Amino acid sequence: MVSRVIPVDPFDLVIFGGTGDLARRKILPGLFRRFCAGQMPEGSQIIGAARSDMDDSGYRKMVADAVAEFGGGADCDNGTLDAFLQTVHYVTTDAMGEGGWADLNSRMQKDCVRAFYFSVGPSLFGPLAERLHRFGLATPDSRIVVEKPFGHDLESAKALNATLAQHFDETQIYRIDHYLGKETVQNLMVVRFGNMLFEPLWNSQYVDHIQITVAETVGVGGRGGYYDKSGAMRDMMQNHLMQLLCLIAMEPPAKFDPDAVRDEKLKVIRALEPVDWHHIVRGQYTTSGDVAGYREDVDDAKSRTESFVAMKCHISNWRWAGTPFYMRTGKRLKARTSEIAVVFKDAPHSIFGADSGRHRNVLAIRLQPNEGMTLDVTIKEPGPGGMRMMDVPLDMSFAEALGPDVEEAPDAYERLIMDVIRGNQTLFMRGDEVEAAWAWTDPLIEGWQARNDVPKEYDAGSVGPEDALMLMHRDGRKWRDIKA
Ligand code: NAP
Repeated sequence: MVSRVIPVDPFDLVIFGGTGDLARRKILPGLFRRFCAGQMPEGSQIIGAARSDMDDSGYRKMVADAVAEFGGGADCDNGTLDAFLQTVHYVTTDAMGEGGWADLNSRMQKDCVRAFYFSVGPSLFGPLAERLHRFGLATPDSRIVVEKPFGHDLESAKALNATLAQHFDETQIYRIDHYLGKETVQNLMVVRFGNMLFEPLWNSQYVDHIQITVAETVGVGGRGGYYDKSGAMRDMMQNHLMQLLCLIAMEPPAKFDPDAVRDEKLKVIRALEPVDWHHIVRGQYTTSGDVAGYREDVDDAKSRTESFVAMKCHISNWRWAGTPFYMRTGKRLKARTSEIAVVFKDAPHSIFGADSGRHRNVLAIRLQPNEGMTLDVTIKEPGPGGMRMMDVPLDMSFAEALGPDVEEAPDAYERLIMDVIRGNQTLFMRGDEVEAAWAWTDPLIEGWQARNDVPKEYDAGSVGPEDALMLMHRDGRKWRDIKA
């Protein structure tokens, strides 16, 4: 199968924070892969902007190193890299000062799409938005791309939205959640709304519960300072898991259009019931063997920030009343995996007798690694010995099913950047969505702060704290194994 490349208009993409980690690891290598795929039209420019003093050739060297380290792609050779580097420029610019803005303005082309990627800390979003206007860089059609975290709580998210709204219309603001750029996440919508098979069963009448797991094996690494003020709830649950929950639970939008999709996601967030604190488990990884514990990683022996959170929640609407949604995410877990599992109810009556056991259909959607889906189907255990039953997975690895070219499918950042250039906001969060997510999360965080809650310990390399297992066990259910 050949990946289809849909052309975009020529563009100028300014990356504020063009020397930073995100730019080097994701944005620049991703743009190079789009260039190799023939999707970056002639006349387009990529302009790095940061305070570091550098010229075009110094920046091109940095970009070439980033591409070498973080992946170019199978079809990319040195000749292509040289051609790509000719599109790359650098302007020393201070987001908080006056320096560089006139130069940046004169570097921009007329009559092409303008996109400004804010790959910098959130405290610079407002100053950047204001200067883009003051120095005449922003046009009515310009787009800004805003990285997470989008606020720290409802109040700060509202303030950020208000600041950006002073300078840009909502249709120009692209709040990125890279989970939404993943192939399988989009496929989730196609599986649900493009097939007749699943949607009639997609409700509380047939679904026993839904599990969403995003597990990482890494610790907080060099991000300890940031992470300790944030924790798993703010860093992962409020955005990535909440977005997955919206896509799995939302009503079919009338069409696949940005506002139609985002309206439906917003309704899900607004229908979420407040979570009983007995239904939330916070955890923190401990030292095990050579692996440092969370408190060592963040250099605070008394930290009460969670590196793991699990919860049970409910959506109060006709479709989902009574169906629990279990979500968990954490660092230093057993395997790196992201999965959504829709666990269907038992057949209403077993004609095979009481000792045939409990068998359930499970549709598991794997986001990583090895994106794909499995559907557990109950069959007869082969061989003699009566009607014994077993569950076998119908396994579809997208990489296997779609052939080798699927590996060339753009990664999340590439796809989302191209959507920005196209002006398609479907896979970006709207301001009201982000605020609604914080409005639901804030009371939970305030609740455990008020109770002085201490996270439960768990061993690095485990599946999380015992209490998280109990959260499901009490309901007669079980988490799926965390495996790569
Ligand atoms: P980083 O490595 O610390 O880079 C920050 C960038 O901002 C550098 O290029 C820095 O360059 C520039 N900068 C700082 N102050 C500036 C100023 N006054 N004017 C202009 N440029 C300035 O951070 P990062 O990891 O790339 O993260 C960037 C943003 O993406 C953050 O909001 C982060 O939360 C978010 N994010 C990052 C990741 C990731 O994997 N890294 C993932 C998701 C979200 P100079 O020092 O040369 O100015």
